[in-house]
Amino acid sequence: MLVVKVGGSEGINYDAFLQDLAGHEQVILVHGGSHELNNISATLGHPPRFVTSVSGFTSRFTDRETMDMFNMVYAGKINKMIVEKLQALNRNAVGLSGIDGRLLEGPQKRSLKVIENGRKKILRGDMSGRVEKVNVHLLSLLLDNGYLPVLTPPAISFESSAINVDGDRCAASIAGAVGAQELIILSNVPGLLRNPEDEKSLIRSIPRAEIDEHIDLYAQGRMKKKLLGAKEALEAGVGKVTLGDARKSSPLQLALDGNGTVIQ
Ligand code: ADP
Repeated sequence: MLVVKVGGSEGINYDAFLQDLAGHEQVILVHGGSHELNNISATLGHPPRFVTSVSGFTSRFTDRETMDMFNMVYAGKINKMIVEKLQALNRNAVGLSGIDGRLLEGPQKRSLKVIENGRKKILRGDMSGRVEKVNVHLLSLLLDNGYLPVLTPPAISFESSAINVDGDRCAASIAGAVGAQELIILSNVPGLLRNPEDEKSLIRSIPRAEIDEHIDLYAQGRMKKKLLGAKEALEAGVGKVTLGDARKSSPLQLALDGNGTVIQ
């Protein structure tokens, strides 16, 4: 089993990627939508608010209005765009968010400890959390009957509220739960770069024991979550995680062939 996460950032060639993906059996696709959500929420007059936690991780502050837009963009526009394209490629894709059938379940954060303008602050009203439980039974029903699952946040809290969860870490939980041999995370960069401004500074491999060091030394912004996801996937028994470039013409095959940052 292969789990593939494709990001929602600018520059991703979905047609080329999905054509590549459609040629693989036994695959689960997880996708993001951050860039599109930023655009749409700004257009709808509720621009995104990003906060930085005391431990240095950035996330989207998700109030109810943001969650409604999150559903529109992730579970609506992007999920159905991907399913439509896969159907045109003769793959019987089924799109689900983590709420459907309690596919992705976990605790909601009670409050967020953030740093704003150099000061520590506690924010409430954030609909976010993390995935602790994956409904593998539901995924097996689909996979065993030839359907290709196309999955997206939000997840659902134990109290049945929609929660924003990080897509990379969510893909890691899914990969661990289904016993995937490999997790591929495709984004709009060649992998982890020593210098984010220089695409030639790709780090080709990271031994498992050095992930934390790489998070501290090289990853900025959301790249930190990709490495954290990679670490969680390996801890959950996934053999190998590759961060690859979704802008290429056969992005999945290239990543499977070891192009990008290989973490194992
Ligand atoms: P996605 O939407 O695909 O999940 P993100 O945009 O959230 O992807 O994360 C990828 C981004 O992380 C890159 O576009 C880049 O700007 C940023 N980044 C930060 N640090 C690094 C780094 N060291 N190497 C590569 N990308 C980095």
